[in-house]
Amino acid sequence: MSVQYIKGVGPKRASRLKRLGIENIFDLIYHFPRDYEDRTKYTTIREAAIGDKVSLVVEIVGGPKISRPRRNMTILKVPFKDESGFGYLVWFNQEYLKDRFKLGQVYRVFGKINRVGMELQVVNPDFELEGKEKKVGNIIPIYSLTQGISNNEISNIIHNALMEYLPWMEESLPAKLRQKYRLMGIQEAIKNIHLPLSGRHLHEARRRLIFEELLLLQLGLFLIKNKSLVENKGIEFPTCPELEDFILSLPFELTKAQKRVLTEIGEDMEASRQMNRLVQGDVGSGKTIIAAAAMFRAVKAGYQAAMMAPTEILASQHFESLSKLYEAFNIRCELLVGSLSQKNKERILEDLRDGKIQVIVGTHALIQDKVEFNNLGLVVTDEQHRFGVKQRAIFSQKGEHPDVLVMTATPIPRTLALILYGDLDISIIDELPPGRKEIETYAVTPAFIPRINAFIKKQLEAGRQAYIVSPLIEESESLDLESAEELYEKYKEDFKDYRVGLLHGKMKPAEKDAIMEDFKNGRIHILISTTVIEVGVNVPNANIMVIYNADRFGLAQLHQLRGRVGRGEYQSYCILINNSNSKIARERMRIMQRSTDGFVISEKDLELRGPGEFFGTRQHGLPDLKIANLARDIKILKYAQLEAQEIIRTNPRLEGEEYRFMRNRIGQLFQDLDIIG
Ligand code: ADP
Ligand code: MG
Repeated sequence: MSVQYIKGVGPKRASRLKRLGIENIFDLIYHFPRDYEDRTKYTTIREAAIGDKVSLVVEIVGGPKISRPRRNMTILKVPFKDESGFGYLVWFNQEYLKDRFKLGQVYRVFGKINRVGMELQVVNPDFELEGKEKKVGNIIPIYSLTQGISNNEISNIIHNALMEYLPWMEESLPAKLRQKYRLMGIQEAIKNIHLPLSGRHLHEARRRLIFEELLLLQLGLFLIKNKSLVENKGIEFPTCPELEDFILSLPFELTKAQKRVLTEIGEDMEASRQMNRLVQGDVGSGKTIIAAAAMFRAVKAGYQAAMMAPTEILASQHFESLSKLYEAFNIRCELLVGSLSQKNKERILEDLRDGKIQVIVGTHALIQDKVEFNNLGLVVTDEQHRFGVKQRAIFSQKGEHPDVLVMTATPIPRTLALILYGDLDISIIDELPPGRKEIETYAVTPAFIPRINAFIKKQLEAGRQAYIVSPLIEESESLDLESAEELYEKYKEDFKDYRVGLLHGKMKPAEKDAIMEDFKNGRIHILISTTVIEVGVNVPNANIMVIYNADRFGLAQLHQLRGRVGRGEYQSYCILINNSNSKIARERMRIMQRSTDGFVISEKDLELRGPGEFFGTRQHGLPDLKIANLARDIKILKYAQLEAQEIIRTNPRLEGEEYRFMRNRIGQLFQDLDIIG
């Protein structure tokens, strides 16, 4: 039902509410407060601290006084007393209130305490006659607003909606679950989320609604996954005896973790259903080989395979590694990127269509309409967080249900991976190849910069290269940070004998690629950059990573940046310049110094900083959450997942009356999500 028919809402307000995403009564009831103001604690005028907002019980002891200190300004003062002493209720420019207050009336008021000379004042207070209180003495909801609707108005509208419709609201959680976790009923929870009876009631209401939301989200994701399991028949790849030869041809032995993940992928490929698997592995854990082996299998079974990377640099890097790996096996591998000449592009497109190319590596260029395959059997996307669910879907629609492999170097704790990649099976490479030199990590204050630069000079003299990272591109007035552009000028000045390069996200892709190419080939010695270098670029000769204002970055991001060095035979160094004195910042720097395990780091990051960079559920193509927060509510999430798994196990389609309302809610939650692309 449209909100327009709720008491207090006409067409005009309805259109304003629409700006808040509120169209029907359900939206309105689920427009939860973004915060609360606790007005339950009363004090007296003498005890209240100046500047605090407090609740008081006052008796009016005199008539109103009005003064006009300036044009366009009136001050209304009403004298009162409470049990501790005397004061004034004061309003600015609200002269019309003067007739409201009668001698001897008792009010509950809530407002900010001010002192002018010896006089104590309560400024612009909310007020209610004793016995009628609603706004004073309670926990008051604070809503997200839009122009033309005040907090009071929206509170009243929601209040009206609750009065009329709450009694009709159906319970969505099975009684069993409510008992097990001692969760409030839906009506009580909704009432208390808007108008909490007490702090404890609010807490319980939140707990129930968060649990419900996460349960619905996880159930929805499991349902989507189940649906694709049933519906998406995939290719049944035959066993592949030649794979052994391919593995033996590698210059190293696979790690245990790599072998395990390859087995998991092999089982998926042989199964009749479509593979949808995520491979998570820290930087340098050897994901490329995994992709190479899977694509090898696809090719040996007579199919084509494609791999998509987020940038040209990464795509060419993969292309070079794969070409080398496939050289001895008579597999034709090509690169498709935007910067190719028209002629080359057309030749590749044609050969791809004719099936003359077996493995194609590329950027987004691969998902354009004109790219057609002969028989695409496997698609791989690297560095998943740069692609959305949708792009992945378009990519896989280039074939007849090809198997799908997604690789990411962003380590995410398993609980969260189940949500963010809820539609995928997950494999984890939790081991680095042997013999890696540990990167030495130091956290220092800006006072050390001259010493750092002396150290860089020494390393450059020995033939190495350095990365310098700043969180900002340009100088900023509001932030006291050194921008990449400023650092670039400084380093050019300080390192006159060397070539310094600048790389940032506002540059054109071709420009970026040219700079990166120069750095790779050693023509640039120091690369000043923003976080655009974060993903997967491999320059083994670079062994120093200096990060300015490291306190500005998330740990997972620092870890990614650090992963740019330590890729060659040289001892590598990561220097974190910490400008912050805060305890948390120092704790975070300590974690970076102590651990090189991406999973440990991301778990800690979550504890210390909350969701940070990998959330944005939107960014992952998930529905918006109204009350739950994936990082903060991790404990509730774990239980919700447990129960979701159990429900799906026993009732995979959520059949029966008990789940009817839940099914509806899941439908609503995912309605505007175009999962299939
Ligand atoms: P990432 O997981 O970051 O994509 P890569 O696949 O680029 O890692 O591998 C990093 C480096 O480690 C490459 O030079 C690769 O050849 C090498 N490598 C991969 N697996 C092994 C292994 N089992 N033993 C030794 N080196 C390996
Ligand atoms: Mg990689």
